[in-house]
Amino acid sequence: MHLKQSKVSIVKCREYHEFKKVKEAVRQVVDLIGGMESVISPGDHILIKPNLICAADYATGATTNPNVVFAIAELCREVGAKQVTIAEGSAIGHDTEKVFDALGFRKLAQKHNCNLLNFHKDEYAYVMNPLGRQIKRIRIPRAFIESNVVINVPVMKTHDALAVTLGLKNMKGIIHPSDKKRFHKWGLSQTVVDLGHLAMPELTIVDGTVALEGMGPVVGKPVGLGMLLASTDTIAVDRVSMDIMGFGLEEVEYIQLAGEQGLGCTQMDKIKVLGEELSNIKRPFQRLSLDEKLLEEMGIKVIACDACSGCNNVVNAYIHGLHVKGKLEKLKGCTLIYGQNPHMPDEDAQRIIRLGTCTRNVPMNEGVYVPGCPPHPMHISDFIDGKGLEKE
Ligand code: SF4
Repeated sequence: MHLKQSKVSIVKCREYHEFKKVKEAVRQVVDLIGGMESVISPGDHILIKPNLICAADYATGATTNPNVVFAIAELCREVGAKQVTIAEGSAIGHDTEKVFDALGFRKLAQKHNCNLLNFHKDEYAYVMNPLGRQIKRIRIPRAFIESNVVINVPVMKTHDALAVTLGLKNMKGIIHPSDKKRFHKWGLSQTVVDLGHLAMPELTIVDGTVALEGMGPVVGKPVGLGMLLASTDTIAVDRVSMDIMGFGLEEVEYIQLAGEQGLGCTQMDKIKVLGEELSNIKRPFQRLSLDEKLLEEMGIKVIACDACSGCNNVVNAYIHGLHVKGKLEKLKGCTLIYGQNPHMPDEDAQRIIRLGTCTRNVPMNEGVYVPGCPPHPMHISDFIDGKGLEKE
């Protein structure tokens, strides 16, 4: 149980392309919860973890606004931080060095006298995780372990597997690339929570300057919200962000688990919201929904049997993605089965695709099995095309 009352501050930041304006907004949002000096001591080494998932500009809503990141760096210096490092390990398939260059972080880091660190090139150390339920031991970058203060700067986004990605999920960027792949195999919601026991930042500032709705975390629609949120309780700031985005706690399993397992506060009535009035700034985010008529016309059957949000989101995102790319034909006549109580499809079902670990032991000899809990959206095509990544 989380006993301390959590504070979450919210400020508007409409002129988010202008560094000076952004810096003032960052100062305000942090001052509302006690100021930078309440988390940083003179001489500290600070690690700032943005979300640089790929080389998409922040105007797309996919990555953290560099104005926010470097405004934070300057505020850290003002209270006496000795060293400020901006660190990231981009998503699998993306070269972090190229992402730093493409998004201007290399030049900006020089200008603001910050270090730039690619986690994937850092030394990792194995760390035990006694409170973890799935992960008992995992590699964590040395720079992360050795920093005095970690400031987490996620973007407010929807997510194809987890409904939303905010502060807690952003910490997954620190882990070793091979562990990133394993998180889906081990169960994404619980593993993200397990990582939280080891890698909880001291301060989370949610970048809602340009957020992302629809098919997040990369190719959705940008939303120019012009907003920043901050808290020393990552789960509380995630919960308040979800409320702004129109997501209930029951829709985001990993935040629910994080609250139950003591990582932070998820009860809205126990969170003190400072700054902007929540009721004035709520802005429901678009979710993905399937075009049932189109699926029927193409003979695509989707059988979800007690599926949790992970599989529901992944399957919706996968089908929607094919549709947007004009490749839905690929699933013509397919029956997709997933969920915690999968049952046999009709006898005449063709081209059966079993999605997720829950369907592993279903006695359907025909068809393709795609492992993962939930399966990684990027991997579904590989399996269906006969290029399975790993055998279970
Ligand atoms: S594989 Fe099963 S438990 Fe995992 S997300 Fe899918 S339905 Fe849920």
